[in-house]
Amino acid sequence: MALVKISQILEGKCTEQKVTVRGWVYRKREGKALIFLVIRDSTGVIQSTIKKDSPCWNDAQKLTIESSLILTGTAREDTRAPGGFEIGAEAIETVGLAENFPISKDKSEEFIRDMRHLWLRSRKMNLVMKVRAEVLEAAREYFKKQTFTEVSPPMFISAAVEGGSTLFALKYFEQELYLTQSSQLYLEILMYSLENVYCIAPSFRAEKSRTIRHLTEYWHMEGEWAFADMNDLMAFEEGLMAHICQTVAAKCEKEFKELGADIEKVKAVKTPFPRITYKEAIQRLKPKNPALDWGADLGYEDEKVLAEDFGKPFFVYDYPTAIKAFYCKTYKDHPEVAMSVDMMVPRIGEISTGGAREDNKDLLIQRMKEQGLKPEDYEWYLDLRRYGTVPHVGFGMGLERLLVWMLDLENIIDAIPFPRTTRRFYP
Ligand code: ATP
Ligand code: MG
Repeated sequence: MALVKISQILEGKCTEQKVTVRGWVYRKREGKALIFLVIRDSTGVIQSTIKKDSPCWNDAQKLTIESSLILTGTAREDTRAPGGFEIGAEAIETVGLAENFPISKDKSEEFIRDMRHLWLRSRKMNLVMKVRAEVLEAAREYFKKQTFTEVSPPMFISAAVEGGSTLFALKYFEQELYLTQSSQLYLEILMYSLENVYCIAPSFRAEKSRTIRHLTEYWHMEGEWAFADMNDLMAFEEGLMAHICQTVAAKCEKEFKELGADIEKVKAVKTPFPRITYKEAIQRLKPKNPALDWGADLGYEDEKVLAEDFGKPFFVYDYPTAIKAFYCKTYKDHPEVAMSVDMMVPRIGEISTGGAREDNKDLLIQRMKEQGLKPEDYEWYLDLRRYGTVPHVGFGMGLERLLVWMLDLENIIDAIPFPRTTRRFYP
């Protein structure tokens, strides 16, 4: 008798063998002479049948949804069973008898969201979390191959990275600190030691709007590296995206299928990506949005319209300086344009922003002042330009936005186990 995972049975590796599985009751259907128990473990779900004359009939009868159990029986092929295999149960050991499980099919979306701690056991969340883990692994693999060192920046910070409107302030003993909106400035520090650095860490944004692409806490994959320009940046980002897509598509076929997500669009992601300038984006959008002029930021709707045209990931680069953060490097002979680039995907729009960083101390101070920031708050950041400044680039990609696109999720809250939004922070 072998202790096995449900996936091993479903792969036909245990047929006609005596097996033991450990898991939870996922579904139960009771007839006069037969009980069907669907058991789940981390790897899948399988049906088991218990006959009236079986010694475990009484145990099976008592079992409730989500009770934990150890079940022994014979694995066999059965075309009638979902997944094509089942276990003919011979012994059941109830480990934890569950009380009446609150989640059932008739419950509202809202109720299920309130029961997040239990809903994470669902097939959907199980599968999303597995794909999420594969995306993280593939990302790390790519950074490592490109000789990047993973670093750990702080989450408590003393000066804003992005605009003040999405900054979370908090009481830190006797003073005010913030939760980081991006680790970029810290990656820039570490770049002077390690050259190519990246981190995968939370970023916090006090986003009041409820959209399918905003959380207040999300995971940010950020990279920063020295002696590089916009072309290096776009080549790196598309390489990362293609690597993640190819790797995950190869490893997670089962997960995509069960989630009903279109894997073909992910498999189709190959370099190079289309690149258009912001100026060209405005020209393309103008017929549909006549009010859109050079200088305006692209909204979600604009990005979606653009993305529909391409039907796959692409870049928009060279944005107006006025709508970009203080650290964006500008072109010498036309400083109204900043070396900034967004990667966009269908349905979601922006999934990453990157760019060249201003490496000239005086220009950087000028940009800070233009944006109403106090250079003295950024003394350490200015030091990086005082001591051996180098041209460098970096980017940040939102992990959850990437997953929303890959897995065709309806809402970003399903891309993370414990979503934080204006209204949700329990548990
Ligand atoms: P948006 O304009 O959509 O609010 P942003 O331009 O403010 O995004 P950036 O500062 O460029 O965001 O952050 C880099 C990346 O981090 C984004 O491209 C996106 O993938 C992700 N991101 C930003 N804000 C959020 C958020 N509130 N929730 C989830 N992901 C986010
Ligand atoms: Mg952005």
